[in-house]
Amino acid sequence: MKIQFIGGVRSVTGSSYLITTDTAKVLVDCGMFQGMNDGEKRNLRPFPFKPSEIDALLLTHSHIDHSGLIPKLVKDGFKGKIFATRATADLCGILLLDSAHIHERDAEWETRKRLRKGRKAVPPLYNIADAAESLSHIEGIDYDVILKVAPNMEVRFKDAGHILGSAILELWVNESGKKVNPVRSLPLRKPSAPNGSFPLTEASNGVKIVFSGDLGHKGTPIVKDPTYISDADYILIESTYGNRQHKGMKETIEEFAGAIGETLRKGGNVIIPSFAVGRTQDILYILNQLSREGRLNNLNVFIDSPLATNATRVFLKHPECFDKETMELITKGQFPKGTPILKFSETPEESMSINRIRSGAIIIASSGMCEAGRVRHHLKHNLWREECSIIFVGFQAQGTLGRQIVDGAKTVKLFGEVVAVRSRVYTIGGLSAHADKNGLMDWLTHFNVKPKKIFVVHGEEKTSIDFAQSVHERFLVDAHVPKPMEEVSL
Ligand SMILES: [Zn+2]
Repeated sequence: MKIQFIGGVRSVTGSSYLITTDTAKVLVDCGMFQGMNDGEKRNLRPFPFKPSEIDALLLTHSHIDHSGLIPKLVKDGFKGKIFATRATADLCGILLLDSAHIHERDAEWETRKRLRKGRKAVPPLYNIADAAESLSHIEGIDYDVILKVAPNMEVRFKDAGHILGSAILELWVNESGKKVNPVRSLPLRKPSAPNGSFPLTEASNGVKIVFSGDLGHKGTPIVKDPTYISDADYILIESTYGNRQHKGMKETIEEFAGAIGETLRKGGNVIIPSFAVGRTQDILYILNQLSREGRLNNLNVFIDSPLATNATRVFLKHPECFDKETMELITKGQFPKGTPILKFSETPEESMSINRIRSGAIIIASSGMCEAGRVRHHLKHNLWREECSIIFVGFQAQGTLGRQIVDGAKTVKLFGEVVAVRSRVYTIGGLSAHADKNGLMDWLTHFNVKPKKIFVVHGEEKTSIDFAQSVHERFLVDAHVPKPMEEVSL
């Protein structure tokens, strides 16, 4: 059996891993490359395999950096099923169509520009029809159920606590043709050995690979905490924050409330660039809490993203993914209803009318890394004003506009104009949907058996290398950071 690391290694975008056995090829995630200088080019490249030869795609969650190339995969000949949790399937229904819409619009714009120069038109990466067709391949499944996905492979989705529907995958591969017995009886978690290493494993039937997917941050609002897994022969673990610690949730909420309070006192607006799925709903949850506690009054909150509005509707359809606290608030009618003066703007005219507000507005808009979407208009209108602030609540990948602002750029380019960065910039790491270094280590500690190898993926190069080093030192296990396109025999 082989695994090939197609993307999402030494980088946080383009997640995709190919498992090839004697009889089957299964892909885990099919993510879009974003933000890097050559991101667009990499998306346009042909897949390094024949899509028609892939038996099945297993999708960890709906974020575009894990799902965004699915319409291209189907357009290029993929005929199999796409397995994802029910909530992920529903979220893909809105996210992939939105992505197709963005590609159509960008291609149209680029084409107009090229035609004026006497050059040829460019087609979009994929269009809305491609995205709609790809959705018909998705099969929504339940968490915790063992499912046969190829002649010699079985999978189980476990809650990853990252965003609604997100999953850790347990994949069992049996190339010998013997029946795999995936539910091995295991002892309950034993305390770690004194040196922190895993107890040794017994010989197992078949090979088990665990994909962490994007692992959630414990205590994050709305979704549950990540599930612990007890055993694996190989682990692929994400490392977005593999060399950083988040502040605690209480401290984070204080920091967030402080940033908003300070901006409103100065008479500015607050811009929160946010992923439409996940972060937006968490921020609403926290604003709701602050207003229930009487901490921030008369808030004027705008969700300027039709996508986030639709995503919020999908959230409310999936209470099976909520934690206890959220269920209680919903039962009491306190969330999301009690969120103060919340306005959802759907049309571009409504969005533009927010641009005219000079003070007191809290504007949540996507995209989360400021690469596209309405947030760019809000930045253009507020970034140069000292009394305003920009609050980053998610990871900003290298090469994105968000990263430039976080890294302290004095000016940035927006819609062909140079805009000064004078507003206050806050980065609130504790609101991230990703576990920090402690969270990742804690998740690994809960394995009862020593894996043969741990592959450290989904992180910027230096972060992944640092994290792999820490994993090796702590658990005395082989921890490897694969290179893009590297293939490893298991
Ligand atoms: Zn994600």
